[in-house]
Amino acid sequence: MSALAKELPVAGLTPFTTIDYPGHLSAVIFSQGCPLRCPYCHNKQLLAFDRSSKLMPWRQVMEFFVTRQGWLEAAVFSGGEPTAHATLAEAMSKIKKLGFLIGLHSSGVYPENFAAVLPLVDWVGLDIKAPFDEKYDLLTRMKNSAAKVRQSLDSLLAARKPYQLRLTFDPKFHHTNDVTEINGLLNQLGADSVVIQTLREPVMNNL
Ligand code: SF4
Repeated sequence: MSALAKELPVAGLTPFTTIDYPGHLSAVIFSQGCPLRCPYCHNKQLLAFDRSSKLMPWRQVMEFFVTRQGWLEAAVFSGGEPTAHATLAEAMSKIKKLGFLIGLHSSGVYPENFAAVLPLVDWVGLDIKAPFDEKYDLLTRMKNSAAKVRQSLDSLLAARKPYQLRLTFDPKFHHTNDVTEINGLLNQLGADSVVIQTLREPVMNNL
């Protein structure tokens, strides 16, 4: 395994944001690679699991957070899909040791990896993309994605971590009935309703 493969593949970083971890000043680390193909994705440059693309060395990410100690409160791991990477837990641990809260943005499609990093995470933004039926796979273009996300949701609720469930509403795909159906199920599970998100462009630097 190359030295690079032992690091979380970081495509870029948002150095300051007030909206990616509710109530906390944070920076966002964007990992490279996502197995889904949501039609509204605005992070298309992050989708390929491509280590030949320009990545930010992990050393540089650490240097950035060292300089932000006392200024920023949290680091948010986003993507792409951060839980796709076995190196995520170590990356989170290193940033946590610097004194930052750890946020995670995830689609929940790697339920085992998602559950494994939950003990390190202080807040989770979990995407709920569609009603948990065949519509889910239609949107994500991933087989059995609904079942995988349900498993991650169960882990999240059992872990009792602060969270936000987010649905990016795409009028070309979603109907308002979908939101009602999703919230009906969430309420049965004792979970919060989804927060509807609008599409936005990531503001990402390569430092
Ligand atoms: S999960 Fe996020 S990064 Fe992956 S395809 Fe969907 S919108 Fe894009």
